[in-house]
Parts: sequence; C-alpha cells; structure tokens
Amino acid sequence: MRHKSFSRRGVGLKSHAQLQHSELLLVPRLQNLDGEQWPTPHDLYTALGNQEFVLFYQPEIELATHRIVGVEALIRWRHPQRGLIGPAAFIPLAEECGLILEIGRWGLGEACRQIRAWKVMDPSLGRLRVCVNLSTREFAKEDICDYIGELLDEHSLDAMQLGVEVTETSLMTNIITASGVLNRLREMGVALLMDDFGTGYSSLNYLQSFCFDVLKIDRSFVNRMTEGNNAEKIVQVIIELARVLNMEVIAEGIETMEQYKSLTRLGCRYGQGFLLARPLPVDEVTQLLQLPGKILPETSFAYDHAPLRGIA
Ligand code: C2E
Ligand code: MG
Ligand code: MG
Repeated sequence: MRHKSFSRRGVGLKSHAQLQHSELLLVPRLQNLDGEQWPTPHDLYTALGNQEFVLFYQPEIELATHRIVGVEALIRWRHPQRGLIGPAAFIPLAEECGLILEIGRWGLGEACRQIRAWKVMDPSLGRLRVCVNLSTREFAKEDICDYIGELLDEHSLDAMQLGVEVTETSLMTNIITASGVLNRLREMGVALLMDDFGTGYSSLNYLQSFCFDVLKIDRSFVNRMTEGNNAEKIVQVIIELARVLNMEVIAEGIETMEQYKSLTRLGCRYGQGFLLARPLPVDEVTQLLQLPGKILPETSFAYDHAPLRGIA
C-alpha cells in the first residue's frame, strides 16, 4: 500500500487546495504529532454534525460489455485539514464506540437520496443497483429493516434498487439477529450481497443458510490469481459455486488486464476494480452513468503501468 502525505507518526496537514479525491488516506488509525491517537470518538461525532462524510461510488461492470450494472457506495471523510480519509481509518473506531449506527443511517439515507436523484435525472437509471456496506453493529439491530423500509417509501424506490453488502464476519457475530435481518430484507426485495467472500470462516455454511443474490470474490484471490498459484483455481471454484447456487458473482479488486482476461476466461460475469473504474465522487460517477448504454470505453481503463495502489 502506498501512503501519501503523512508518516505513521505524524500526519502532515494539507491546505484545502491540496485536497484531491485521488489522495485517499488509507491507514488504520493515525497519530497526531504529539502521539495522540487520531481520530477520537469526539472527532467522529463532530464530523457527523459538520456533514464531513461523503459517499464515493465505484462502478460494478459487466466484464464482456463494459456496461455499468451497479455501483458500490463507499464512505470517505472529507476532513477540512487532513484531506480525504478512507474508511479503514475510522469505521473500526465508529464500530467500537457505537457511532457506526448514526454513520450507517446517514450512509443509507444518502445512498437512497442519490438513487432517487439519478432516477429523476434519467428514468433508465431506475434499474441501477446501488450497494451499501452494512457493518456488524448495524446488522445486529432488527430496526435496520424498518429504517430501510422507511427510506424506500420516502424516496419512492423499488427495493431491488438497493443492495446491502455484508461480510461473513458480521454474520458470525450475531447469527440469530443477522438471520432475522437478512430474511426480512429478502422479503422486502432488497438485494443481498456477500462481501469479501472466501475470507471468513464458514462461507459454505452461510451460503446454505441464507439466500444471497450475489457473491463478491474477495480481492485477495483476484490479486494473486495470475501468479500461477492456487488462487486462480479458488476463483474458478467460487464462480462455479455461484453458478450452481444461482447467484451472480462479482470479482473485486481487478487491477490488471491480465486479471480481467483470466476472470473473463473463467466465466466471471461481473467485476469491480481500479482497472475498470475507481471509487468516484458523485458528479464523476454521474458522468459515467450518462455514457451511451452506460458502457465504459476501454480507453478509460487504467492499464497495468498506472500507479494504483493505495489511491482510490
Ligand atoms: P469493501 O466493501 O470490500 O469495499 C471495497 C474496497 O476495495 C474499497 O476500499 C475500494 O476502494 C477498494 N478497491 C476497489 N477496487 C480496488 C482495486 O482494484 N484494488 C484495490 N487495492 N482496492 C480496490 P475502501 O473504500 O477503502 O473501503 C474499505 C472497506 O471499508 C470496505 O470494503 C467496507 O468494508 C468498508 N466500508 C466502506 N464504506 C463503508 C460504509 O459506508 N459503511 C460501512 N459499514 N463500511 C464501509
Ligand atoms: Mg463492499
Ligand atoms: Mg469487499
């Protein structure tokens, strides 16, 4: 991972003009120059009040046609001095201190408002699926379903336009509540995506117990699949598993043309990754959604030589 503009002990403060969306800070937690941990729960609370959180959207692409079939909403913190902060630096803390419930609600609300805005702009975008990541704690409270139901009503959305991404780890933490939440979301028609598939402990058990619409192959497999090791075989098996279980499959983290070609050869239908499109601010992703047929030109791909790592 390439880190820009800070050292692990000190974060250089940047001026507003220097804050670019391409310079995402992707570190677990930072320290101030005085060695204090940053951020604190109070910082998160203030950020929420000051509306400093934003959603970026990363396109999900049909590999054969380059058509955008959906987008994943990914939270960033646009800090007035420190720049754009990635979720790894604050989501774990938000989980720990409970603020994730507020942040998560904000994210769901913002995503639904955006789906409505896209639909008003272009009715054909009414079929675009927007996926939101749900954290362990959000998932452990059944009232999340009521809240999602209210948002769908408020913005006059079809439930199928919203997808929720959950990981095996968050399922595992409170399986009874999680199972109730998943079943209810399913009855409501919300799309269910299993995120980071293959990295948890009992993937097959969860696939047996819950009906997911989509499996997202974790990027650690995609990343290593062209290195001549077992990763490619694992990817192949996951694609086959999804096929027999009647699920869509999305490969995460496609960074090179070689990975793209291998995935296509293995019959993987959908993918997401820096090669195809990075997570983008709303105005930039809106421009992509307005391309004829929502088809990305191959000339827009970031080829292998591009400096990809650590930047979103
Ligand atoms: P995730 O849901 O698995 O999201 C995919 C992550 O992979 C994103 O990181 C995205 O920027 C990154 N990514 C996409 N393509 C590539 C690629 O080609 N190469 C590499 N190296 N990375 C790629 P991001 O945005 O930093 O998010 C990290 C995680 O934070 C997410 O993983 C998700 O678990 C969590 N997260 C993001 N937004 C939210 C949110 O609104 N709520 C909650 N609860 N969690 C969130
Ligand atoms: Mg995700
Ligand atoms: Mg993932």
